[in-house]
Amino acid sequence: MKQQRPPILEHRRVKRGVMASESARERERERTRAHMLAAKKHVLVNPNNLLPTNSVGKPDFVKRGYYLDRPFNCKSCGVAQVWTETQQKWWYESAKGDVWTIAVLCRPCRKREQDRRNAARDVHFAGIADKGKNAA
Ligand SMILES: [Zn+2]
Repeated sequence: MKQQRPPILEHRRVKRGVMASESARERERERTRAHMLAAKKHVLVNPNNLLPTNSVGKPDFVKRGYYLDRPFNCKSCGVAQVWTETQQKWWYESAKGDVWTIAVLCRPCRKREQDRRNAARDVHFAGIADKGKNAA
């Protein structure tokens, strides 16, 4: 039965084609799954909570859709620090920090900087109060 050969070959070719496209789909599924798994392990970005920005382009964390811990060295004392995903989410989404700003001070230095500012403000107000007393 010679006539049967061409249909078989055709069938095989089609089958190979189907398998190839299925493996491409499978690879795509695998990539999506890998991305979702990566995202699941991280703190997600909620773009609705971010401060609007006038700049063209988006920061990496917005494009990625989730935060990544950022190692850095404190600008003041030089100690190695990690700005964690949770801290970043808080800064950008709760404190409404500018999306282009990043942490530059370690926690103790930030605290010291804050205390210094508060102290300066207290001195300023004390000065005003004293002037008021002298005038009276
Ligand atoms: Zn420091």
